[in-house]
Amino acid sequence: MRRPVLSRKLEGFGTTIFAEMSALAAATGAVNLGQGFPDSDGPREVLDAAVAAMRSGQNQYPPGPGTADLRHAIAEHQQRFYGIEVDPDTEVFVTTGATEAIAASLLGLLDPGDEVVAFEPYYDSYAACIAMAGAVRRPVTLRTPDFALDHDELRRAVTPRTKLVLLNTPHNPIGKVFSREDLDAIAAVAIEHDLIVISDEVYEHLVFDGVHTPIASLPGMAERTITVSSAGKTFSFTGWKVGWVCAPPDLVAAVRTAKQFLTYVSGAPFQPAVTVGLRLPDSYFEEFTNDLRIKRDRLCAGLEEAGFLVFRPAGTYFITTDIRPLGEDDGLEFCRSLADRCGVVAVPNVVFYDDKVEGGPLVRFAFCKRHEVIDEAVARLKGLAR
Ligand code: PMP
Ligand code: GLN
Repeated sequence: MRRPVLSRKLEGFGTTIFAEMSALAAATGAVNLGQGFPDSDGPREVLDAAVAAMRSGQNQYPPGPGTADLRHAIAEHQQRFYGIEVDPDTEVFVTTGATEAIAASLLGLLDPGDEVVAFEPYYDSYAACIAMAGAVRRPVTLRTPDFALDHDELRRAVTPRTKLVLLNTPHNPIGKVFSREDLDAIAAVAIEHDLIVISDEVYEHLVFDGVHTPIASLPGMAERTITVSSAGKTFSFTGWKVGWVCAPPDLVAAVRTAKQFLTYVSGAPFQPAVTVGLRLPDSYFEEFTNDLRIKRDRLCAGLEEAGFLVFRPAGTYFITTDIRPLGEDDGLEFCRSLADRCGVVAVPNVVFYDDKVEGGPLVRFAFCKRHEVIDEAVARLKGLAR
């Protein structure tokens, strides 16, 4: 049998790198700074709202686009934080995590042979979903040390077959927050070539330096942008899998077409809970960011002391490092052996790259963990250089 495209995409892995590394941490008892999930629950009132919803019988299929209350709360959130107007009835659509929002957007919009410009390294589901749609990815590489976007390279990546641009800001795994100049350049290319932009903004509330600007807020962009977000990141409930898109009605229709055959609807009792979360006061969002900023600083300092070259992230809860100062250059090998060598698990950035040379020596650590867990990981990592 000719191997299907998805299994070829997972070349060398029985499963995604996140599942492999979390399984390794569970099997060895290592500190898991690999897969990005917080090790404590999000806000109490959000949790209580989910329990109350379950107990009050909100356990059957909810409406396909998401509950009206949640869609209104999402629209209020876009207005409160970015001054963006979206119609909760026609321009907001709830999905099973941002993962499904991205999959449904790509499957709903792409024809076989269409091209997608994406900024490498890219989150692993992008390449898989582009492949599932039979489309072709055109990477534009963000290179160390500053992961700057080369605007000429972006222009060269666009061909007559290009259908859309897939953006992620703040960016997993490198923690880049795209500047206004970068967003203007992407917007100019999208408008000139009449492209759709899918903008994955799941880390919108995790910006430590600079500001998050949704590309949909730029002139001429709202009509061509699907903005993706996730309650998993903003409220630290990654296992609930509630995400959403904000987009003009014709693009929402494309997402809906695919989503209704992927999951049909999304987790009923979690929707009223996320509604409560989105209506929390500004202080929640500020404290969430401030706590993670302290953790970023703590893990950056610890990784530097342990001998890594650290690329300090402006956003997200990930730190990308270069392992070459430790005398190593194979990030995949390094991560597969790290649990045994010092009891820590991380993720090799090479899985996010087509350019294996660029990604090869880079390794990602997650800092959405309790302070004592970060300290323990640093103490263990310091043993590496000895
Ligand atoms: N996009 C990016 C950049 C991510 O890091 C993640 C992490 N899970 C997702 C999408 C998926 O989000 P969700 O868990 O809501 O599906
Ligand atoms: N987004 C998280 C990460 O990048 C988890 C992803 C996943 O498990 N699919 O680590």
